[in-house]
Amino acid sequence: MKTTINYNFKKPEATDTVNIDDLNYNADAIDSKMKDIETNNKNLNNTFDELIINAGNSNAEIVAGRLSNITGKTFDTFGHRADDVDSQLADTIEQMQCKTNYTGGIVTIIDDDGYANFFDHWKPIADANGIKLSLAINTGITGTQGRLTLEQLKQLKTEGYDILSHCNTHPDLNVISLADLENEYIVSKKYLTDNDLGDDLALVYPSGLSSLTDAQKAIDIKTLTRKYWKYGIDNIGGVNSLPVDSHEVARQSYGFDNISVSDIKGFIDKAYNEKKWLIILTHSGVNWVDSNVTNATSVINYIKSLNMPILTFRQAELLVGNVFSQGDKRTQNYNFVSRNGACYNSGFGRINVPSTTSMDSPITDYDKNKISTRLIYDNQDTFLHAGGVMSVFRGNEDLFSYALFYPYQSSKTYKRYWTGLSWSAWADMADTPLSVTMPVSGMDALIT
Ligand SMILES: [Zn+2]
Repeated sequence: MKTTINYNFKKPEATDTVNIDDLNYNADAIDSKMKDIETNNKNLNNTFDELIINAGNSNAEIVAGRLSNITGKTFDTFGHRADDVDSQLADTIEQMQCKTNYTGGIVTIIDDDGYANFFDHWKPIADANGIKLSLAINTGITGTQGRLTLEQLKQLKTEGYDILSHCNTHPDLNVISLADLENEYIVSKKYLTDNDLGDDLALVYPSGLSSLTDAQKAIDIKTLTRKYWKYGIDNIGGVNSLPVDSHEVARQSYGFDNISVSDIKGFIDKAYNEKKWLIILTHSGVNWVDSNVTNATSVINYIKSLNMPILTFRQAELLVGNVFSQGDKRTQNYNFVSRNGACYNSGFGRINVPSTTSMDSPITDYDKNKISTRLIYDNQDTFLHAGGVMSVFRGNEDLFSYALFYPYQSSKTYKRYWTGLSWSAWADMADTPLSVTMPVSGMDALIT
């Protein structure tokens, strides 16, 4: 009987009679091998742990190795930190392989600043309607007068509410230095992680990025935020098209302070009709009067009447967040791919021919299966000496390739084609007779 290469498991062939002993032999052998592996792993972990214990805190390198500079979290052993990294990698792989294809609208409500009266204002309405909200809290003032306590936050988290960072102390983004802001991020993130309230999902910008007067600082803050959080949520109004700009997610402000459904209906309808993601910003800690209960309930009822889900940021992100995010829309250099397959890419449609390529470069200088478009300045224009825009199509078969030339400030179009050796002469499309024999078998009809 054949056996496997490494462990000699038995491999009965079609001609062998089925022997229950062979099956049992294989099962026992596998069981024993797996136990060996498990024991070896345990031994390895113990060895690592012992190394740490033996080294204690006397070895600076080991102490540094157990600390994550990003989360600020210190692990008891190298092994535990490696487990944490493993699980983050597994999450990333799962995201990249996400098969979600949700196509409807979604509403998310994020209540800012973590006021204690969230419990009296929003929570009864949310609970009565079976929905959950996200809360943006300032971790450094948790439990101070008028703010939610750590116990309340833990209760909300347990009940399915979503806790997001709103920095540690609600700094003024116009004033704070990037170094101090980074410290706000580190401290806030550590508080959320240490108390099992949240992770690196999202930072809600205090007063919003749109409050910044310095455009470069907004870009710098987005870049810094990317290092610590998967999303940055802004106060700029409107409804999010997908994919979102990961570090400038739009949010429509709505205080529910004596505002009727009609004030926000337009945004809800847009999210519903255009299948977009509406994130509503509320401040239930301030400006909340008795009529808000009726108004907020009406808004919830209206959204429910459309059968549009109201989800926390964390839940919604799993349906319409990004699986890939690079760069930033403000710098016009980005790639975003959302979980529902939508894609934004600053490179699409801007296929540039290398600057060394002249107007008359051969077809082989162009990328296959691309349409390359470039500006031709007057001194590069060997045809009309006027300049213009030239588009070159190169397919898989070079004989199908052609170029179009649109002279500067003219409505004329000229065309030339690749002969196999060189370009034909430019011809004015308006007076070019169409009479050509297709060079591919099966397509040899005369086109006139
Ligand atoms: Zn705030």
